[in-house]
Amino acid sequence: MARRKSSSPQLIVLSKDGDGHDRRVALPAKDRRLNFGDRWEYAPAPEASNYIQLKKRYELFINGRFVRPRAGKYFYSINPATEEKLAQIAEADAYDVDLAVKAARRAYDNVWSKLSGRERGKYLYRIARLIQEKSRELAVLETMDGGKTIKESRDVDLPLVAAHFFYYAGWADKLEYAFPGRSPRSLGVAGQIIPWNFPLLMAAWKLAPALACGNTVVLKPAETTSITAMHLAEIFQQAELPDGVVNIVTGAGETGRALVDHPKIDKIAFTGSTEVGKRILKSIAGTKKKLTLELGGKAANIIFEDAPIDQAVEGIISGIYFNQGHVCCAGSRLFVQEGIFAPVIRKLRDRISTLRVGNPLDKNTDIGAINSKMQLEKICELVDSGLQQGAQLVQSPARLPSKGYWYPPSFFTGVTASHRIAQEEIFGPVLSVMTFRTPEEAIERANNTPYGLSAGVWTDKGSKIFKIVNKLRAGVVWANTYNKFDPTSPFGGYKESGFGREGGTHGLMPYLALD
Ligand code: NAD
Ligand code: MN
Repeated sequence: MARRKSSSPQLIVLSKDGDGHDRRVALPAKDRRLNFGDRWEYAPAPEASNYIQLKKRYELFINGRFVRPRAGKYFYSINPATEEKLAQIAEADAYDVDLAVKAARRAYDNVWSKLSGRERGKYLYRIARLIQEKSRELAVLETMDGGKTIKESRDVDLPLVAAHFFYYAGWADKLEYAFPGRSPRSLGVAGQIIPWNFPLLMAAWKLAPALACGNTVVLKPAETTSITAMHLAEIFQQAELPDGVVNIVTGAGETGRALVDHPKIDKIAFTGSTEVGKRILKSIAGTKKKLTLELGGKAANIIFEDAPIDQAVEGIISGIYFNQGHVCCAGSRLFVQEGIFAPVIRKLRDRISTLRVGNPLDKNTDIGAINSKMQLEKICELVDSGLQQGAQLVQSPARLPSKGYWYPPSFFTGVTASHRIAQEEIFGPVLSVMTFRTPEEAIERANNTPYGLSAGVWTDKGSKIFKIVNKLRAGVVWANTYNKFDPTSPFGGYKESGFGREGGTHGLMPYLALD
């Protein structure tokens, strides 16, 4: 995947060397790809955020209305780039969760399950259009609350959020055609729990197919990134979605647990850590609840000697540093064929030193803030383990802002398969580089992980792509590109990366009973 370029019309670079004067130079667009190393910087280009209307407090969204949590408890959501408190978020307990589930059940029995697919589709189209209308504001909020760069939230997350609602709106009245000869029926009330790395996109992945299939929902966003979900609730109100069809309860793990354990839930969809996924699996064992899990990953990117190296390095860079590495399908292990090890390492080193780390609201920023202090500590701990186990760290010399949570783009060489950094999900901008000789060795090493979410292959030979792809135990394999998403394409994992698929017609199945 190519790096997403900013749309600013002209690039101004400030010369820091030479005769001691600041010299501003306007660069033609064709020179954007020049390697300026650490000698040049762009002038700041912050996205406007002064019109953003943050509430002081976000309440729970139950039965179409914003309501206070019964216990009156709130917690703060902060901006991880500034450590500034953005707003108070309601903390739902088991009582509030029960109200939300009851509202969803009533809406299911009395309204939503009685509507035709065509009518449900109309609501989803309306929601998709409202998301498009408000997409700039939502992108800025997403960036402020979660730390991801504006060029990602604006150019990747929000367009995909709308696309998912449009796509599943189209299926709402065509379910019999998606599953010919079978009679698809909705399940009832779905409990959906999502993580913080793509807050609105994960909400869309879960809500759009559930609603298209005729289910009602109780959604729980992640505790560090709840704000955009509550703005989405306002969109549901504006779309006049019937009360109780979507309910949103905010809070941390306890709130999630109350939702999982609620006896009147028919289906749980979870995206997050493998640890919590396993816990959920245990707690619903023996119940009739259906379950899909989208958990962690430790994806292999495999680069062969015959690959176009510059292009491949660019794709590998975006595959791991995209969204600060907060991506379950991030290409976090790189396998380089031995003959090109030296040039690949040199190019990686040069390229990470030009990635711009800093203000996520700046349109030129490549690497934004780490989502939370806890996540930063986890990254640091795993990097330390890599150093202790004998791997060598290459890190960008980027200067990090003094406030907020940051980690420079980094990679390890000298990694062996037994190192923790080769096995465990770092979930940060840190790549582990290893080598291989033959395609067979690449496949074996790539598959040597408890995970199986995604993988990437870089080669000039189509035949090699097909040979490798069929042997990789990964739910998604990208060839000569990486981290490309589309609502029509199913996504999900093998092994400890979970089960069930989201996206495409596959993504309808977890929300239907098919006889
Ligand atoms: P997490 O699994 O703890 O949280 C994900 C969601 O589950 C959040 O909404 C959280 O509130 C909720 N939750 C937590 N405990 C729960 C419980 N017992 N029952 C029900 N819901 C519960 O993940 P995290 O703390 O945000 O991140 C930890 C690690 O998870 C990360 O370092 C990363 O490795 C991984 N992760 C993976 C993905 C992914 O897309 N697969 C996304 C985010 C994080
Ligand atoms: Mn936040």
